[in-house]
Amino acid sequence: MNPPNTRRRFLGLCGAAALATFPARSFAQSAAKLDLNDPTAKALGYVENVASLKPGQESALKPGSHCGNCALYATAQEKAGHAPCGAFGGKLVAKNGWCRAYGPAA
Ligand code: SF4
Repeated sequence: MNPPNTRRRFLGLCGAAALATFPARSFAQSAAKLDLNDPTAKALGYVENVASLKPGQESALKPGSHCGNCALYATAQEKAGHAPCGAFGGKLVAKNGWCRAYGPAA
């Protein structure tokens, strides 16, 4: 067997293995969904669905506000209705969610 071909084949197999595992690693390293029991989530009154709030329950809630139109919601990274939020260290929040840190996107 020719040594250069063996090395080339080995490096090719390593590259293929790296490409094959990339999606799984990428998914595993993606941000976690914000836990409703997270102390900061509780302190800021985070809810996954703003429609679940009763009228007058949150004085800071403005009509039409939700995570999807908040300045801290990383819309460009949204997947399956969730995106990283700057108020929670990049953890995933629901597009239809809301919290007291809401600020309208420009
Ligand atoms: S800061 Fe904005 S995007 Fe983040 S949870 Fe609160 S309302 Fe949603």
